[in-house]
Amino acid sequence: MNDTAQKFNFDPDELREKYRFERDKRIRTDGNSQWVEVKGEYAHFVEDPYLDKEIVREPLTDEVDVAIIGGGFGGLLMGAALRNAGVNNIRVIEKGGDFGGTWYWNRYPGAACDIEAYIYLPLLEELGYMPKRKFADAPEILDHARKIANHFNLYENSCLQTEVTEMRWDEDSSMWIIRTNRNDEIKAHFVAMANGPLHRPKLPGIPGIDDFKGHTFHTSRWDYGYTGGDAHGNLTGLADKSVGIIGTGATAVQCVPHLGAGAKELYVFQRTPSSVDIRNDHETDEKWFNDLKSGWHQDRMDNFNTLVGGGFAEEDLVNDGWTEIFRNIRSLVQNDPGGEMTEEELARKAEIADFQKMEQVRGRVDEIVKDEDTAEHLKPYYRQFCKRPCFHDDYLPTFNRPNVHLIDTHGKGVERITEKGVVVDGKEYALDCLVFATGFEVGTDYTRRAGYELFGRGGQSLTEKWKDGMRTFHGMHTHGFPNCYVMGMSQTGLTANIPHMLKEQSEHIAYIVKHALDGNVRVLETSQQAEDDWIDTINRLARKSEQFYQDCTPGYYNNEGRPGEGDGFLSGQYGGGSVEFFELLEKWRNDGDLPGLEMK
Ligand code: NDP
Repeated sequence: MNDTAQKFNFDPDELREKYRFERDKRIRTDGNSQWVEVKGEYAHFVEDPYLDKEIVREPLTDEVDVAIIGGGFGGLLMGAALRNAGVNNIRVIEKGGDFGGTWYWNRYPGAACDIEAYIYLPLLEELGYMPKRKFADAPEILDHARKIANHFNLYENSCLQTEVTEMRWDEDSSMWIIRTNRNDEIKAHFVAMANGPLHRPKLPGIPGIDDFKGHTFHTSRWDYGYTGGDAHGNLTGLADKSVGIIGTGATAVQCVPHLGAGAKELYVFQRTPSSVDIRNDHETDEKWFNDLKSGWHQDRMDNFNTLVGGGFAEEDLVNDGWTEIFRNIRSLVQNDPGGEMTEEELARKAEIADFQKMEQVRGRVDEIVKDEDTAEHLKPYYRQFCKRPCFHDDYLPTFNRPNVHLIDTHGKGVERITEKGVVVDGKEYALDCLVFATGFEVGTDYTRRAGYELFGRGGQSLTEKWKDGMRTFHGMHTHGFPNCYVMGMSQTGLTANIPHMLKEQSEHIAYIVKHALDGNVRVLETSQQAEDDWIDTINRLARKSEQFYQDCTPGYYNNEGRPGEGDGFLSGQYGGGSVEFFELLEKWRNDGDLPGLEMK
């Protein structure tokens, strides 16, 4: 053991080697094409199981100032920002039966948010709402989404149960014509696309996936009619059933405890274990909440962003598992007698802090899971932010139940699906029900994920324009597609707190739209030059994080092991981080002349 190993109780060289080994065995040549697109014969996987009543209405052919596509937090925040700016002729188009977006669809048992409710739930001060606990569950979040819709009067003139099928720029009227599956032809002066970054469920291209004759569904369309129970569990319908679940990401971590409690037998098919840390949830202290000073919500969101973006703040207000790793790095830096550090030295410290954190996460598995072999297979060997970190207190103990079986596929994934069940290592596991907790498309074409095509100037499609990768100015504008705004994570500054990003973007877009409407500007379009410059900035800054993601085990954070290619979640991030990105947007607005946008 070398000095560092003795100091930390682990050997960084050995861990580095182990991480590399675990990564290498998971690298696949098919990357993003390993997923089956959920359409055609698979379309039933995305039918809406939550609809009470189908809306019947005549097709629309009217005209609005702004159409918002998507009624999740992106669409809701966009609607709120427009209302606040006095832009009222708007319409939200949403394919679900209600507002809520990801929280409308993800109602699986145990669904909850891992980001603290006091920063995750938008517009808390505006609505005067106190979250019940530090971490909100899915029903509370969905309820909050409806509260926002009501507060800002967004139900009025919204089109629910309506899916956009195409958007086409009409040169003559300088408007977008939006077509839907209800034969609408809505004309919109401006369009904000708030489709959601994790919107389209994905299925693994496992041989035999259509052969299974038992019951099956994706976690984002939970079939309570079959399982019984609700978002709080109590899955009584599974008492006599053998259930399999494929996937062990953040969703599975939350629903496996309920499946384990409800099913006769549960088989958890694992390709890569998640890192599962303590949750530390508690009820909201009413006195503390009521004493918070005006402006606290934005301050708290900013504080979290600063810390998880690697910056320094006097205090860690959120003080959770996300910020912990950065607290560790800070304490390593502060305890270093050497003073000012080079970037390499800082990176080395960060790696040590990461090893420490992950050793603790792996140690937690040993403390909780009684069977040593099962515990060993549940240990994640990669850096904490290679995959989405999870925080849960009941996931690991579930593997102590006699009816719960971890079927580790040694990084290869499920071998085959048959009429009767699932095959791993040549052994068939017979199942009555198979649940796909296999996540959402991230690195595929934007339009495939959105579910509709855009045709901009000269009839050019967005798919064609972005065939070699996404090209935007500030992540929101793209040349050739005027008056149209992308709301999302790519080519913007990433934050784990997605509603914060959506809030900043919606206020930014509302500013631009208001500017155009007040000045009677028909067309606003980003210049080719501004777009090219932004792409150069993205590429230049991305190099900083490229090696980190190159060394990571595959997943959607690194474009399934191919960082830097395609439209991966992190491959096209603004490398300066979200704090810097938000400042850059503010500075741009303060300039007042909309630099980079051409008025026509
Ligand atoms: P993920 O994409 O994170 O996980 C998919 C899972 O399916 C992975 O474990 C993956 O393994 C596994 N898988 C894929 N193909 C196969 C195969 N052929 N055989 C076996 N296993 C396979 O999806 P989730 O739905 O879990 O989470 C999606 C995202 O949603 C999260 O990352 C998070 O951002 C968000 N979320 C947020 C929550 C919150 O608290 N706010 C809660 C739940 C989700 P592998 O890792 O090897 O690819």
